[in-house]
Amino acid sequence: MFNRLYVHIPFCIKKCRYCAFVSSTPKSEELQEYPALLIRELQLRGSAADPVASVYFGGGTPSLLQPQQLARLLEEIAAQTGIQATAEITLEANPGSVDQISLKGFRDAGINRISLGIQSFDDRFLECLGRIHAAEQSRQAFRDAREAGFNNVSIDLIHSLPGQSLLQWRSELLHAIRLAPEHISIYGLTVEEGTPFALSYPAGCHELPDDDLSADMFELADELLTAAGFEHYEIANYARPGYRSEHNSGYWKRDGYLGLGVAAHSFLRDGYGVRLSNPDNLEDYRRGVTSGRLERSGEQRLTQGDAMAEYLFLGLRLAEGVSLPAFEGEFGRPLESVYGSTAADLARCGLLVQNKSVLTLTRRGMLLSNQVFTRFLP
Ligand code: SF4
Repeated sequence: MFNRLYVHIPFCIKKCRYCAFVSSTPKSEELQEYPALLIRELQLRGSAADPVASVYFGGGTPSLLQPQQLARLLEEIAAQTGIQATAEITLEANPGSVDQISLKGFRDAGINRISLGIQSFDDRFLECLGRIHAAEQSRQAFRDAREAGFNNVSIDLIHSLPGQSLLQWRSELLHAIRLAPEHISIYGLTVEEGTPFALSYPAGCHELPDDDLSADMFELADELLTAAGFEHYEIANYARPGYRSEHNSGYWKRDGYLGLGVAAHSFLRDGYGVRLSNPDNLEDYRRGVTSGRLERSGEQRLTQGDAMAEYLFLGLRLAEGVSLPAFEGEFGRPLESVYGSTAADLARCGLLVQNKSVLTLTRRGMLLSNQVFTRFLP
């Protein structure tokens, strides 16, 4: 049913202005009790058929947990589901909430990949975004991670920031290349409803770059990072050879995963797949877990049509694209018989290309990926 595990830690020291994730500032007793709730949920959910191939602690700010708490969680996961010896075990970390000692502790606890939320190397942008750290803290966190023994470090960067020029974005990318992480995730800033950014920009922040400038930023990242030896293996992700994110690749390949914690989503490989989500507030989650009856909301059992569409729009995110024989093997129907005319249309518009038996997005298709994906919806 699942071979990957996602653990959501819904706490942050302070909410960033652009953030639409489920997270809030915790009381200290909430941080203390939360790992025990996760362990209880894991016990309620039962075990995987096989040991999991990856574990991902995401958030929120998972680096607010103590190394001992993470060690205890991993111990329990190993006991309940098993963890493969080669499993990728990632912790998202905020540069403002780690130091040399905690990073060493995380490594000793069994974390083997760190994903640092650097976002920008320019203090003015960090300030405008409402991040809790300065650029120098990010550089220090990176050095500390190396010192602690992490040889697989990913960093997140955001482009299309208020008032950002192409030259400034170039400088961010050059900073990232100099740091030499194994993996870089790059997102364009989007203004989500309900965030402080959606209501008004704080003083000192400027207007957002327009679509053309955002597209230039996407292309500049592709150009500079691939020239520096990174593979552009997914729309928003770059990796040195051998360092693609195992866990996230599983999402794009529709592997089953169990999500633990407040607001965590799961995808179980049962029939064409079932998507489920946990309560999105701590109180309901705590009540469900402690009573032994944790209701999941939003259960969606996929039809064959849903699953085929997902297969396309998740698979096309990857540079390796969608293999026609693999699609037919999965669904017993040739891809051309289901999406032939849609794919031909998109190819005519220069968004999609078929090379032998593989469909991939063009660079323009990557830029306009949301428009491409809606064409495959049932
Ligand atoms: S650290 Fe991440 S999850 Fe927390 S508020 Fe900022 S953007 Fe949101």
